[in-house]
Amino acid sequence: CNCNKNDFCSSLPAETPTASPNSNLSILSSLQALKLDGQIFFDNIDYASKDFGDRYHFLPAAVLHPKTVQDISSIIKHIYSLGTTSALTVAARGHGHSLEGQSQAHNGLVINMESFREQDMHFHTGELPYVDVSGGELWINILQEGLKHGLAPKSWTDYLHLTVGGTLSNAGISGQAFRHGPQIDNVYQLEVVTGTGEIVTCTSKQNADLYYGVLGGLGQFGIITRARISLEPAPARVKWIRMLYKDFSMFCRDQEHLISSRNSFDYVEGFVIINRTGLLNNWRSSFNPRDPLEASEFHSEGKTLYCLEIAKYFNPQENDIIEQIIDSLLLELSYIQSTLFLSEVSYLEFLDRVHAEEKKLRQMGLWEVPHPWLNLLIPKSKIHDFSQEVFGKILVDTSNGPVLIYPVNKSRWNNENSLVTPEENIFYLVAFLSSAVASSTGTDGLDHILMQNNRILEFCDSNCLGVKQYLPSYSTREEWKAHFGPRWETFRRRKTTYDPLAILAPGQRIFRKAV
Ligand code: FAD
Repeated sequence: CNCNKNDFCSSLPAETPTASPNSNLSILSSLQALKLDGQIFFDNIDYASKDFGDRYHFLPAAVLHPKTVQDISSIIKHIYSLGTTSALTVAARGHGHSLEGQSQAHNGLVINMESFREQDMHFHTGELPYVDVSGGELWINILQEGLKHGLAPKSWTDYLHLTVGGTLSNAGISGQAFRHGPQIDNVYQLEVVTGTGEIVTCTSKQNADLYYGVLGGLGQFGIITRARISLEPAPARVKWIRMLYKDFSMFCRDQEHLISSRNSFDYVEGFVIINRTGLLNNWRSSFNPRDPLEASEFHSEGKTLYCLEIAKYFNPQENDIIEQIIDSLLLELSYIQSTLFLSEVSYLEFLDRVHAEEKKLRQMGLWEVPHPWLNLLIPKSKIHDFSQEVFGKILVDTSNGPVLIYPVNKSRWNNENSLVTPEENIFYLVAFLSSAVASSTGTDGLDHILMQNNRILEFCDSNCLGVKQYLPSYSTREEWKAHFGPRWETFRRRKTTYDPLAILAPGQRIFRKAV
């Protein structure tokens, strides 16, 4: 093999452990000798070999609970100073909600970012409000604190029990991204500890190469220890609306119309419903049909349907005017009239909605199961080809979990960061959020779902749809190069500059530490 030593060799399977425990032992004890404010743990660290995906389990040799940014810097400086004599790698672990071991470090050192709360959150009001938070802070905590100041971040993920560092290393995409861009486009400043242990403050003007590299950079160039996040006045209430379509073209046309209009909804998402009975009945626990009689006569059996999910934020004194605005926006849409369902909830309830589902699934023992998720970004011009094949042939009987589908407008996104998106201005996020039954060999089993995911990926590849994976996962250098396309050289240069020994985020399996 003649590949560069820092690249993941294409002849190695991704799962191949790369560090030998013995070689690390003496180094680990040397870490103990470092003067730290926090603590290093060697026992009871099994949790650091688990993640939400529940498919990859690599046990680290130790877990650091840092108290200060200097702890993180000292540890990395020390490991860096050992050069290629040590195989030890370092993974920042946010909330561990990765899908394929991305926050794990086989026989390496995991940094538990959630224990890192150097200072309280610091809210700044004024014309351009922002908050300074630790990289290990959970978005739900930022929301709850922000609401006390009447402020909140602009761009979210669907689920808020994720850390700032974890989502900023990917993108952070939800139904607000068509307007504000993903979370990585709503950050003014970062404090980062690089792979050499240097502590660097960076913005779009100062150390801009590192700033843009780290945003969407899959943890490759540094550990985000602090982030300055842009805020807006928080609304009190949300009108939350769902409606169904039988026709995929109309569904897409309406979604694209909504993300392109100026005075539109504040949140636009959608999902595919495959072969579900009693669907509208289930909605009734949290939504009200606009026309109860017609809704009760609608039967969804055996069909693939598309649900548009939209939301409008407001404050109570604006209720009447908001209802008028919503009515006129709805007039522009071509949904099945009898399937219009409405709800009104607090802003907190709306944003934290997936946590409510989590509680239910946990009670049923269905949360901690394998999650073979597949997230794709699909150019607008190819979404119909994709839909015909995937919803017409591959996923016809069941989906094993929600299938999200919604467009975003790239002209509102900054393309200087490390996130890779399709070429076209409008593209769709399609997320197959499957849960598998570990012991099953049927259609709800892991093998079947992985096979379906592969069929979808193969279709995209062989038809050259220009699709990009979101939360990407590949096992060879060639695949990573193809993923980054013309941006690979920048990504690789940044790795050589900021993490020359490839110490950081080994679980992404992009570069391998040279030993
Ligand atoms: P981890 O899994 O702990 O880490 C992820 C990666 O980032 C690892 O490589 C890790 O080493 C690195 N990392 C962690 N912390 C830092 C840091 N401080 N500095 C540098 N690197 C770091 N994503 C969306 O965009 N939109 C969604 O709506 C969405 N919904 C989700 C819903 C659920 C239920 C789940 C489980 C995930 C969802 N995600 C969504 C995906 C999620 O954004 C990513 O999996 C994210 O990485 C999880 O954050 P975490 O804190 O658990 O990160």
